[in-house]
Amino acid sequence: MDPSRIYELDRQHVFHSWSAQAQIKPMVVTRAEGSRVWDGDGKDYLDFSSQLVYTNIGHQHPKVIEAIQRQAAALCTMAPGTAVESRSEAARLIAEQAPDGLEKVFFTNGGADAVEHAIRMARLHTGRTKVLSCYRSYHGGTHLAVNVTGDPRRWASDNGSAGTVHFFGPFLYRSAFNATTEEEECDRALAHLEQVIALEGPGNIAAVILESIPGTAGIMPPPPGYLAGVRELCDKHGIVYIADEVMAGFGRSGRWFGFEHGDVVPDLITFAKGVNSGYVPLGGVIIDDAIAATFDDRVYPGGLTYSGHPLACGAAVATIETMREEQIVENAARLGVEIFGPGLAKIAEAHPSVGEVRGMGAFWAIELVRDPATREPLAPYGASSDAMNAVVAAMKSDGLLPFANYNRIHVVPPLNISDEDAHRGLEIIDRALETADAAVS
Ligand code: PLP
Repeated sequence: MDPSRIYELDRQHVFHSWSAQAQIKPMVVTRAEGSRVWDGDGKDYLDFSSQLVYTNIGHQHPKVIEAIQRQAAALCTMAPGTAVESRSEAARLIAEQAPDGLEKVFFTNGGADAVEHAIRMARLHTGRTKVLSCYRSYHGGTHLAVNVTGDPRRWASDNGSAGTVHFFGPFLYRSAFNATTEEEECDRALAHLEQVIALEGPGNIAAVILESIPGTAGIMPPPPGYLAGVRELCDKHGIVYIADEVMAGFGRSGRWFGFEHGDVVPDLITFAKGVNSGYVPLGGVIIDDAIAATFDDRVYPGGLTYSGHPLACGAAVATIETMREEQIVENAARLGVEIFGPGLAKIAEAHPSVGEVRGMGAFWAIELVRDPATREPLAPYGASSDAMNAVVAAMKSDGLLPFANYNRIHVVPPLNISDEDAHRGLEIIDRALETADAAVS
């Protein structure tokens, strides 16, 4: 189809997510491969977004494409109540990557429904209703998932949030606790959570849900000891610890799961995105033995028509096997240490508009400010600004697709991006930030 026709039909008939429909101009994409995406004019871009941070093995990986074709030919679909090869094998591989003691997988269609089901399991397991989650978090767009979300996407739908309570997680650069060191931030954030638990009534709290490394909210790796402290508080009060690994999981941070950096074992793990690089929609919950046992002789009251869809599971099997064979997670860790860490530190030094860079693996945020002293963001929380739009436009015109959120640019390319492309992307960012520097007072 002619690119102009694709665009015309999109504008006539496609209703887009999170958008004022008349104010958007969706980019026409005609092709993608590895870390490259081509637009309707044939211009190619370096994908530094992995779309919505999910194409961890890049676009059109031949081994996954081949597996999807093979699965489609063998068995396209089969209801969730059956036992089929790709579902059994995907569950085995996923459980194998998870810590010992988490052996069962409930499959969903994506991240938000994984969060919904994890919370449902925690509530039924504990017989309690409240759920604690962080400000500056994202857990999904379905109703309960949007209610536990701690970012502005919650505000318009915050009308059915019975039992959801928000607290401050650690974020030293914009500390809610006036902390000046990582250690102080960790101690004070844990003391704050302990107080919230006490004031909400520990006997009423089913779960604490945490992104192991908050993603869209700003890629804020927790300080050493924080996740262990959360684990301890949950143990003390019989609260289920849910690690939301939808974005951080499957290699993004240079480990299979983000919580591995904190050396903790959650009770439930939600995943989606990277499990099969989003080639076919898939998410799920990895369940620890004690919670799984709750439903041995008691019906789990939940399910989905496409739970464990064979095509999606076939893609997951090929993705996980390929990630192991090609050492893609190890490569993400190396990229962080050898290229993104040092490269972004240099960028931070060179540009007054960069308040902070932080991250690990292929999971980095550049926090842009108008004033380095006051840390006033380049766009207000929950909004955009002309200055941010100009930075994004500069990157795009120079051939890079960035992931931008409020006052931040996230560096989140596929985990197997070539070193040459990783360097080239940083050079484009470096040039584009001159636009941001012009807005610094
Ligand atoms: N949880 C986290 C941490 C996410 O980043 C996202 C999506 O970005 C979700 C849940 C929701 O996933 P989905 O959009 O697949 O429903």
